[in-house]
Amino acid sequence: MPEGDTVYRTAALLDRALSGRVLERADLRVPRHATADLSGAAVLATVPCGKHLLTRFDLDGALLTLHTHLKMEGVWRVHRPGARWERPGHTARAVLLAGPPLDRRGAPVEAVGFSLGAVDLLATAAESDVVGHLGPDLLAPEWDEHLAARAVDRLQASPHRPLRSALLDQTNLAGIGNVYAAELCYLAGLHPETPVGEVADLATIVDQAQRLLTLNRDRPRRVTTADPRAPTWVYSRGGQPCRRCGTRIRSSSSGDVPGRERISYWCPTCQPPSGSDR
Ligand SMILES: [Zn+2]
Repeated sequence: MPEGDTVYRTAALLDRALSGRVLERADLRVPRHATADLSGAAVLATVPCGKHLLTRFDLDGALLTLHTHLKMEGVWRVHRPGARWERPGHTARAVLLAGPPLDRRGAPVEAVGFSLGAVDLLATAAESDVVGHLGPDLLAPEWDEHLAARAVDRLQASPHRPLRSALLDQTNLAGIGNVYAAELCYLAGLHPETPVGEVADLATIVDQAQRLLTLNRDRPRRVTTADPRAPTWVYSRGGQPCRRCGTRIRSSSSGDVPGRERISYWCPTCQPPSGSDR
């Protein structure tokens, strides 16, 4: 599942490729918007919001937003029109064909969103309908101690909830996926099922989440350790030795989240269950 840093890079890719151009054609392959006509729309920007993408247009003075979400398998790709798509055509959910940049010469580009989990077209003024439920965005440019404190408050509001599940809940704080949830629990020395109310220092975990996502937002490959050759502490390392203590990393399906998000990874030595002697 894409994490906030991947979505951030995707937004940057679309923003670079499309902003300042006019759409020649837009094909939204979802029933609700199959007949939407965005041709002639000037692309203003693409911005990330947690794990959501907002691509904004000006269509004859009307400000519109294409809201997309990568969910589990989604990707956006940008290439020259006519280039061979790297994913099957039937998985394309949005195809945006944009003319040359308005302020300089250049070739048209095509942006294709494959396997997107959400495709909505709405008034830009109504963006809060699709992202208003999100907690503070860890990669928001305006991130500060107030947003961090708000994220901590939201986490603390459900003290019995397991830490990992609470970190994955985008209404608490936005941007954490399965990788960061596992790695943050490890770095805090806490079992993923530790109730939030028993976590002594949530502020440090939120701070670490923000720093890790920021460190990785411009990197092609995510690293939560200091070593790119060993990029994670526990995530996706079930059965392998812990990098600190050598204990086999455990994995299990747990928590109250669906699909692959259920797989949890932890070191039973470095992350003992709550209530046990440390
Ligand atoms: Zn360990």
